[in-house]
Amino acid sequence: MSMPAILILGGTGEARLLAEQLCARGDLDVTLSLAGRTKSPLPQAGRVRVGGFGGAEGLAAFLRENGIAVLVDATHPYAARISVNAVAASSLACLPLVVLERAPWQPVEGDRWIDASSVEDAAGLLGKRRNVFLAIGRQELAPFRAHPQHRYIVRSVDPVGSDQAIAGAVYLLERGPFDINAERALLVEQDVDIVVSKNSGAPAAYGKIAAARQLGLPVVMIARPRSRPVDAVSTVDEAVRRILHCAGLPA
Ligand code: NAP
Repeated sequence: MSMPAILILGGTGEARLLAEQLCARGDLDVTLSLAGRTKSPLPQAGRVRVGGFGGAEGLAAFLRENGIAVLVDATHPYAARISVNAVAASSLACLPLVVLERAPWQPVEGDRWIDASSVEDAAGLLGKRRNVFLAIGRQELAPFRAHPQHRYIVRSVDPVGSDQAIAGAVYLLERGPFDINAERALLVEQDVDIVVSKNSGAPAAYGKIAAARQLGLPVVMIARPRSRPVDAVSTVDEAVRRILHCAGLPA
């Protein structure tokens, strides 16, 4: 009998761990899908496919053609389009959809968060000249170009292309996880006076938030583009249980 086929929409550390755990069971046929934004993604367990599907209908066709039994959306909480497509495609292909999305971080005592509704809003909130740590990747730098009075420190996994660059910025090439002490040292060394972050909820990205709190620095926190689905699971273990249930396999 063929093994139930699982398609994981990935691009996150959780998706990688999930694929690893599911593959280790040996009774599932696991495919991990990546958008192809990162030039050298970390090694992944199972089969990997790369690139868009061509919208919700393209994804639905892929699900049907590949006999997928369960679709898993384990994409980043700020990847809004693919998540909308996943909902539509699972409905078109009449498949269960499991959403793995971390709960957002909540501010704690000592945090000085400034809420921004979008990346554009965050860029406009920075005010007078500042040393800004931009920890939002390299894809959404454009709004900050309209505020050239600041000195930007931009961290990304892949180099920032000339079409994305901000004049005069400092570029750091690093892949997480980022530990709090290293983040604190970086903020001090670069003389950062404000941090811009997305609220990924991921422990691997929390170091800068805790370090900013220790140093008394404000953090412009960009809101998630959509609210977290009520039936989303928050951890890899919960996702495994939900997927096995949907696939009719024992835990
Ligand atoms: P997006 O705006 O939601 O997606 C744009 C298009 O990229 C989608 O419509 C889809 O193309 C394709 N796509 C996205 N994720 C895909 C996947 N896992 N497999 C195959 N195709 C995918 O997403 P984004 O914000 O550009 O993010 C792209 C990827 O980077 C995501 O997989 C996400 O998990 C990861 N990521 C994003 C962020 C972030 O801050 N946005 C941070 C870390 C990692 P088609 O419509 O042609 O299918």
